[in-house]
Amino acid sequence: MPIYDLTVIGTGPGGYVCAIRAAQLGLKVAVVEKDKTFGGTCLNVGCIPSKALLHASHLFEEACHDFAGMGIKVSSPKLDLPAMMKFKDEGVAGNVNGVAFLLKKNKIDAFIGRGKIVAPGKIEVTGADGKTQTIETRNIVIATGSDVARLKGIKIDEKRIVSSTGALSLEAAPRKLLVVGAGVIGLELGSVWRRLGSEVTVVEFLDRILPGMDAEVARQFQRILGKQGITFKLSSKVMAIDSSGKILKASVEPAAGGAAETIEADVALIAIGRVPYTDGLGLDALGVKTERGRVVTDAHFKSNVDGIYAIGDVIAGPMLAHKAEDEGIAVAEIIAGQASHVNYDAIPNVIYTFPEVASVGKTEEELKAAGVAYTTGKFPFTANGRAKVNRTTDGFVKILADAKTDRVLGVHIIGADAGTMITEATIAMEFGGAAEDIARTCHPHPTLSEAVKEAALAVAKRAIHM
Ligand SMILES: Cc1cc2nc3c(=O)[nH]c(=O)nc-3n(C[C@H](O)[C@H](O)[C@H](O)COP(=O)(O)OP(=O)(O)OC[C@H]3O[C@@H](n4cnc5c(N)ncnc54)[C@H](O)[C@@H]3O)c2cc1C
Repeated sequence: MPIYDLTVIGTGPGGYVCAIRAAQLGLKVAVVEKDKTFGGTCLNVGCIPSKALLHASHLFEEACHDFAGMGIKVSSPKLDLPAMMKFKDEGVAGNVNGVAFLLKKNKIDAFIGRGKIVAPGKIEVTGADGKTQTIETRNIVIATGSDVARLKGIKIDEKRIVSSTGALSLEAAPRKLLVVGAGVIGLELGSVWRRLGSEVTVVEFLDRILPGMDAEVARQFQRILGKQGITFKLSSKVMAIDSSGKILKASVEPAAGGAAETIEADVALIAIGRVPYTDGLGLDALGVKTERGRVVTDAHFKSNVDGIYAIGDVIAGPMLAHKAEDEGIAVAEIIAGQASHVNYDAIPNVIYTFPEVASVGKTEEELKAAGVAYTTGKFPFTANGRAKVNRTTDGFVKILADAKTDRVLGVHIIGADAGTMITEATIAMEFGGAAEDIARTCHPHPTLSEAVKEAALAVAKRAIHM
């Protein structure tokens, strides 16, 4: 067996992208993966299957409610859930097979089994049959990702009390779905099942949904989801779920304490977040420093042990696939001797509901807390021609710019296709652009993206269509 220049443990978006970039740069690369397929959380039980179900359930809802208004007659659309699940599974298979192809194309050796770092430069891989192999390698990148965060005393069985993984494969739409946690995953999967017929109640400990997002955006988004039929119970905590009967009985208390009430549900989705995953890696014995479970790294993704690096969900920062990918590229380039970095000030964040929510940069709350003087430009989709004709007028674009320099500090969008539109704001921020740069950039008409231009014009109080 060769001595590898780099071995990456984990083939999620962080790991497989890192391996490919390193191979492009001429390194001899191996990957270690404990699961049956490559692609990690994102491709197997995260981004890809959730987006498949969001897409299909959105079209189902449109067919049920919106087609007639556009002059499209369909005789009452019916849900064929097994076929929808097959659609999702085929999408996942296409993506994970794509990663296998890319690894092969780049001549990356794959070891299937659980990796344990027995010493710097040495990884022991234990296969499903219990057989072990030892890999020798000059550098190691830990890209082992994250796992579902659990609620104390509540056992996830992936049938009635589910994590996001179980919620992606339910056999029938539950009559009542209880979602614990009003973060991105809870709201996306809550939306899927509401569209497919469930009565959805979201219980959130905080007094707002989407902690960390711009508060005005979160408030408006909650109103929109409320209009769509999702019920919110904020400032409340789920203390226990009794699963002894046919119906689940969740005991829910006010966050500040007080009398508990019972919420009944057929299925409960625990979506309180994710935790870094380092089980069985042997980090303690090696003395690799972790903080609240995350591997501590320096600006070059290096841990405190020479030759051991880490990226993605297992280190600090937002748990997002594109953040993991960018770190994968950066660490591969650094190990190959190049200079590389990730700009954490311009990492977009998207919620793929309808409408979508997307943001990049600072929120108003963060700017206020930092004492930064800023100006705001806002433009509603009700005033955008394309949104009007498409009847997708929910939402707005908000641009926050430095009051002195006009430099874009944050952009927040609620609207159809917000996830695509946020990219132009991200590029503007990468280039240190000003609101005026966006305002003077010619935007195609008629597109929803004209609302971004108008919001940029509104920073200088000169929006045209408002
Ligand atoms: C339902 C859901 C929806 C999501 N939607 C989005 C989205 O739309 N956009 C977005 O940006 N992010 C989304 N995410 C988050 C995204 O999936 C993660 O941020 C991303 O997968 C992190 O990539 P990673 O490479 O760090 O780790 P992971 O994707 O978690 O991959 C880690 C890999 O390491 C392997 N592994 C772990 N330990 C070992 C070991 N000891 N030996 C061998 N292999 C090991 C695992 O099997 C896994 O394959 C979503 C997550 C979920 C759960």
